Amino acid sequence: MSRYLRPGSIDEAVGLLSTDAALRIVAGGTDVYPSLGEAAARAAFLDIVRIPGLRGITRENEAWRIGAATTWSDVVRAPLPAFFDGLKLAGREVGAIQIQNAGTLAGNVVNASPAADGTVALMALDARVEIAGSDGRRVMPLGDFVTGVRSVALKPGEIVTALLVPDRPAKSRSSFLKLGARRYLVISIAMVSAVVDLDDAGMIAEAGIAVGACSPVARRLPALEARLVGVPPAQAADVVLASDADVLSPIDDVRARAGYRRDAAITLVRRTLAACAEAAR
Ligand SMILES: Cc1cc2nc3c(=O)[nH]c(=O)nc-3n(C[C@H](O)[C@H](O)[C@H](O)COP(=O)(O)OP(=O)(O)OC[C@H]3O[C@@H](n4cnc5c(N)ncnc54)[C@H](O)[C@@H]3O)c2cc1C
Repeated sequence: MSRYLRPGSIDEAVGLLSTDAALRIVAGGTDVYPSLGEAAARAAFLDIVRIPGLRGITRENEAWRIGAATTWSDVVRAPLPAFFDGLKLAGREVGAIQIQNAGTLAGNVVNASPAADGTVALMALDARVEIAGSDGRRVMPLGDFVTGVRSVALKPGEIVTALLVPDRPAKSRSSFLKLGARRYLVISIAMVSAVVDLDDAGMIAEAGIAVGACSPVARRLPALEARLVGVPPAQAADVVLASDADVLSPIDDVRARAGYRRDAAITLVRRTLAACAEAAR
């Protein structure tokens, strides 16, 4: 028979996890339940969404803290600086409204699907992952946290408590685009998130470009990011080369062939940069 525990604090949650290895963390449940199917009726769950302080977005020091129980709808509705627009666009395309109301950003990241839309948008923003365990808290870059398909750097008994997004200059813009077989309720064939910070002269001072569904783990495009520095935003799309996709390793599957994914990714990179330029006008 299923067991369902609702701890009242992170310490209690960590304590329960340390004494019962069978416990499975659940937030919105939109990945957990479909993956378990009928086995859900016999599983043991640790529901973290009602832990006080775990839901919501706050600014702390130089970063924005997105608590692990924060849903996609929370992000979409939150009054946030313009550089979060790419993350909001990703959120508006996660499943449908019902999924966005229940599903969390942390769940999206920990589930570690190569097609996780949130991971791509957060990676472009240099997000870090805050983790609590019996040894205390630690923080690591999102790029190191997701280690492979369905694989993350969580040790047994650990919980993700927040995603930390570094603050950016006021003149920072971002965008997100996803390609699927249809407009809504679709697993991405490729998706891209771009963020550009502008200097006082209006040139690109820093860029973050992340591509998803084209490798086991979402990838940044560091060579392109370096070439974009000093470029006027309106010319950013012209700087993108087909060879920028060389760091990707797309596969053929039921949704698309590898070559198509590669071409689509480059087209999406150009379009997200054009969208950033438009937003900066
Ligand atoms: C119909 C449908 C459409 C969808 N469409 C999309 C889509 O368009 N794009 C997309 O990216 N995803 C999509 N998803 C997948 C899913 O909705 C998202 O990944 C969502 O953000 C997962 O969040 P959750 O809170 O529901 O995670 P859960 O299902 O609760 O958990 C997911 C995993 O993370 C673990 N976990 C959750 N929170 C924590 C934590 N704080 N610490 C440690 N481990 C944790 C769980 O144990 C589990 O392994 C879709 C799902 C469905 C059912």
